[in-house]
Amino acid sequence: MKIDPSRASALISQIKSVSERIAAIGKGRNVRLVAVSKLKPVNDILALVQPQEPGIEPQLHFGENYAQELTQKAEMLPRNIQWHFIGGLQSGHCKNLAKIPNLFCVSSVDTLKKAQLLDRYRGEFISTFASSSSPSSPVPEKLNIHVQVNTSGEASKSGCAPGAETVALCRAVEAAPHLHLLGLMTIGAIARSVATTPETENDDFVALREQRDLVTAELGLEGQGGRHLELSMGMSEDFEGAIVMGSDEVRVGSTIFGTRPSRADAKIKE
Ligand SMILES: *Cc1c(COP(=O)(O)O)cnc(C)c1O
Repeated sequence: MKIDPSRASALISQIKSVSERIAAIGKGRNVRLVAVSKLKPVNDILALVQPQEPGIEPQLHFGENYAQELTQKAEMLPRNIQWHFIGGLQSGHCKNLAKIPNLFCVSSVDTLKKAQLLDRYRGEFISTFASSSSPSSPVPEKLNIHVQVNTSGEASKSGCAPGAETVALCRAVEAAPHLHLLGLMTIGAIARSVATTPETENDDFVALREQRDLVTAELGLEGQGGRHLELSMGMSEDFEGAIVMGSDEVRVGSTIFGTRPSRADAKIKE
């Protein structure tokens, strides 16, 4: 696959600068950077997975919004990539997503039905994998899940309502045999996002943290033998503010890859 050297070095320098900003504001806390590569070609992704410059850490976590685009890219790119599905999730896509062996997390689960579909198809996939593949290809693990919460209450945003609905969905994911509840995700309102600085408190981030604490208590995950449920919040505009508010995962696209083409103009490969 062809990788343009000047494009590659621009991408590497962008991601390096984002990583440095994350490290500086996170003060040693482990914050996962998901590079959001939707509508960007596989050549761009490969330039970051296999950096051609010495001393540069490969970037392995990538986020995609469209199920078909993710499926195609996952087939074309190395298996050590850890994919995140972060887009609006449709029931009809759950089967194909669950069959991507190196899908790290589905971050946009907002209904019980979709959780049940992902669980069922992941279970089927794990059992066919276990019986048919060679010992050298490891059986995929449980699928990590972020429950998406609509913290801004906007009708245009997906996500389940804060409170009882969020708790019930998290409980169901936690009980599903082939899913692992990793934490909660929010997108939040654009206006709040643009107004966010490391010094201001974004209401969406406050709300997600409250939901996380609620779920942790309701599911009995606090204290010894408990588990830290992570917060996936923060994008290009507001990731530093999100980290100050306790984010464990930021999803950054345009600051790394530049502005995105329209869906009609997007190319999977250059
Ligand atoms: C596109 C997208 C991002 C990245 O947005 P940028 O502003 O380009 O960083 C993050 N999260 C979700 C859910 C997205 O759809």
